[in-house]
Amino acid sequence: MFSFEFYNPTRLVFGKDSVNSLDDLLPSTARILVLYGGSSAERTGTLAEVRHALGDRVVFEFAGVEPNPTYETLSKAVELVRQEYIDYLLAVGGGSVIDGSKFVAAAAKFEGDSWNILEAWGSNVVEALPLGVVLTLPATGSEMNNAAVITKAESKTKALLATPHVFPQFAILDPTKTYTLPARQLANGVVDAFVHVIEQYLTYPVGASVQDRFAEGILQTLVEIGPKVVFEPADFDSRANLMMSATLALNGLIGSGVPHDWATHFIGHELTALYEIDHARTLAVILPSLLNARREQKKAKLLQYGERVWGITTGHDEQRIDLAISKTKAFFESLGVKTSLSAYGLGTSAIEDVVANLEKHRMTALGEQQEITPVVARKILMASL
Ligand code: NAP
Ligand code: FE
Repeated sequence: MFSFEFYNPTRLVFGKDSVNSLDDLLPSTARILVLYGGSSAERTGTLAEVRHALGDRVVFEFAGVEPNPTYETLSKAVELVRQEYIDYLLAVGGGSVIDGSKFVAAAAKFEGDSWNILEAWGSNVVEALPLGVVLTLPATGSEMNNAAVITKAESKTKALLATPHVFPQFAILDPTKTYTLPARQLANGVVDAFVHVIEQYLTYPVGASVQDRFAEGILQTLVEIGPKVVFEPADFDSRANLMMSATLALNGLIGSGVPHDWATHFIGHELTALYEIDHARTLAVILPSLLNARREQKKAKLLQYGERVWGITTGHDEQRIDLAISKTKAFFESLGVKTSLSAYGLGTSAIEDVVANLEKHRMTALGEQQEITPVVARKILMASL
């Protein structure tokens, strides 16, 4: 196991009606900005519950944080924060609203051009406004981590920011908030959480048995509950387990002391920035062919994954690896998530654009061994056609 430091200060408040805890969680004197997305928070009644729970605090609202939140939109929220001396942010939504609020929290306290935060991957952030979360879409794990992904619409760039200053102070997880999600977003949630685990688990063995077993437990849970979450009527237990899975998949714990891949995410980000394909859907396209392309380097873990997650115990090594990859792909497809570029109308010219963007964004040595060069990425994309 590698050396590591694990730090996670986010308080989780879990359960039905946990939105009511906002009154205890937020200072009574706070000047709060509630950030949310398009219409869902208002339509589902969550916003009304939030407004009620905030009582007579001074509250401002910022609507319209888009899926794959843009720097351009968020900069307007930063202006509002400064103008109104806001001192606490409350994100009500999924990964996009939470990520966007993290950027606003950092940018509001940043001297100079806030795009520099993203140029430096957040390493230049020295303080941020406190942030709380009411989660409405379990998927990204953003509610309990220190990362955010922000898009610059003008240049079609998806950039990452990570700094301990943007850990949410608390996250409210009420599984009943997921009852209004359409099947597409639920399937996205299962796939994103699944791939977050894979990016930290399916690398090479370093003797981290506990992290492996935690990771396999989350993967097995997602395989078990996935179809129920997406296709059956809303049920508290399966939604609760989806929330737990998604949060634990990316709160730093299973990733402590182990190598990380993240190449699927970085290649996927270019697909979203260029073609607006949902984040999770890009991962389902890239992951199977990436695992296949890296089968030698990942051999030991692919065999372990096949056996422990999919129960594959017979056949020779190469057959077992083939089966583990094809079961992964079939799992995504079974949730209604397509696993090929052509399913999104993309062909070889799109691949050249993605590779050019990887180069432009200096994503030229990806993966746990930094061996995914643009040439390797092109092969992976060709195999995803
Ligand atoms: P999202 O983009 O936050 O939301 C997708 C859609 O779901 C929105 O259109 C939203 O509608 C709707 N929605 C949200 N909650 C709903 C509810 N309870 N009922 C009905 N509709 C609801 O989706 P996401 O998958 O959570 O986030 C994706 C973003 O997170 C991407 O930008 C991705 O790159 C990023 N990401 C971040 C991390 C991280 O660690 N920080 C990790 C992975 C991915 P409204 O707009 O109308 O509200
Ligand atoms: Fe993700």
